[in-house]
Amino acid sequence: MKKIAVIGSGFSGLSAACFMAKDGHEVTVFEKNNSIGGRAREFSEGGFTYDMGPSWYWMPDVLENFFAQFGSHPRDFYTLVRLDPGFQMIFGKEDVLQVPADPDAISQMFEQIEKGSADKLKKFLAEGKFKYEVGMQELVYKPAFSWMEFANKKVMTGAAKLQLLTSMRAHVRRYFKDERLVALLEFPVLFLGATARQIPALYSLMNYAALSQGTWYPMGGMAETIKAMNNLGRSLGVEVVMGCDVRRINIRGERSVSIGTEKGEFYSDGIIASGDYHHTEQQLLDEPYRNYNEAYWEKRTLAPSCLIFYVGVNKKLKKLIHHNLFFDSSLEKHASEIYTTPEWPTDPLFYVCCPSKTDSTVAPAGMENLFLLMPIAPGLQETQEIRERYFKVMIGRMERLCDESILPHIVYKKSYCVNDFVNDYHAYKGNAYGLANTLRQTAVLKPTLRNKKVKNLFYAGQLTVPGPGMPPAIISGQIAATQLSKYLNENR
Ligand SMILES: Cc1cc2nc3c(=O)[nH]c(=O)nc-3n(C[C@H](O)[C@H](O)[C@H](O)COP(=O)(O)OP(=O)(O)OC[C@H]3O[C@@H](n4cnc5c(N)ncnc54)[C@H](O)[C@@H]3O)c2cc1C
Repeated sequence: MKKIAVIGSGFSGLSAACFMAKDGHEVTVFEKNNSIGGRAREFSEGGFTYDMGPSWYWMPDVLENFFAQFGSHPRDFYTLVRLDPGFQMIFGKEDVLQVPADPDAISQMFEQIEKGSADKLKKFLAEGKFKYEVGMQELVYKPAFSWMEFANKKVMTGAAKLQLLTSMRAHVRRYFKDERLVALLEFPVLFLGATARQIPALYSLMNYAALSQGTWYPMGGMAETIKAMNNLGRSLGVEVVMGCDVRRINIRGERSVSIGTEKGEFYSDGIIASGDYHHTEQQLLDEPYRNYNEAYWEKRTLAPSCLIFYVGVNKKLKKLIHHNLFFDSSLEKHASEIYTTPEWPTDPLFYVCCPSKTDSTVAPAGMENLFLLMPIAPGLQETQEIRERYFKVMIGRMERLCDESILPHIVYKKSYCVNDFVNDYHAYKGNAYGLANTLRQTAVLKPTLRNKKVKNLFYAGQLTVPGPGMPPAIISGQIAATQLSKYLNENR
């Protein structure tokens, strides 16, 4: 049994901790905040319970696969419901696309909007399914230390069909013309941190995830997944120390490392650092032990940051459903203000989650729990005045498009933006979603999961492989744990 330190209690850290404990090690997780979950934390205030980050539960098979490796299933911990409609896109007051759960109903919706598109969608989603399956079976669970890991028959013969060299934008437009259908199929890649122009068409696998596998919700909130992983970890003997900011990683010799925290020094045989990769390297490690320098990080394409409002409303809102995308202005313009000329958006798109439509436990009776999110470029200067300005813009648009007053009914409001990401998570440039999944930042080209100089130090999380999002972060923890266990076994 070896002593293992995991830095960070987000999805990747908890996943890594569970796998290390399953391999028989004594695992301690060090978390700077006073609650677990990292970007997926929750907080409660005035009868409302808010998920602070993720709200879209896609790819349920990844969570199932995670728990299956411990002989359990998500249903042992929480109740998952499929949302129907999965989400709605609001293009105008009378122009709203609700995306049903039933595949036949989705086809009908496509056909009504664009003649002939139902058949095209079938083909488009079949391609997405192929990519998803190859991705899950052959790509994302690899440590990506070398391209040779991907040189197997299935990947090589299917390489052209994976469409790494075609852009998502070109791929979608080859099939569909109607701008609303294009937006519906392009919006999921916004989660990956770049425009559809820069994201490889491989990621139409996200459309398969969204439209075929469906949009799910764990009753009680997304943080139920974090609690489930934490409970699993506890049952395996994992200890979590909260309110403990790791200040140093000390290299003590060939096989021994220690972490310096405000609560003292902790010696271990291996570390999995799942906090922000840039912070771990630049702040916790001495220069000779770093994989990358500041210039390297400066050249990375980060996924966006965001401006968030957690809002409580003392009435029910008629036109909202669980997931609402306000796409009544130009996606192209907003995307360019995030990625090309980083600046505060002129006419932003935004997203509103209203989990109280599905879950009565997250708001007092007769009220709504709202989560407003506006993506912005990472590293923007921000102030309370700027936050307020955009709050008014978003609420004004909601009032107009939903045709009812909201502002006078707000009984709770809290904002969250770039500075909070930096303060709470040591996030590089206040990023929300880590590193963008552009072609130049795919697999081997991402910041590597291993420290090349310290053999018992591995990284996990949304800035390394396989990338940003709840499912990839969980997978990342698993890969890091597998690699550290392998090293410890080979160097007993
Ligand atoms: C607003 C928002 C919305 C999102 N929406 C979705 C969504 O709908 N669906 C989806 O799948 N994904 C979504 N994501 C992405 C997803 O939440 C993240 O990719 C995932 O939670 C990242 O997990 P992680 O473990 O890599 O990092 P984190 O969750 O950031 O965990 C890292 C942890 O390390 C801790 N830490 C850092 N430095 C130190 C230190 N020195 N000492 C001790 N602790 C430290 C941090 O406090 C943090 O708890 C969203 C993210 C955000 C921010």
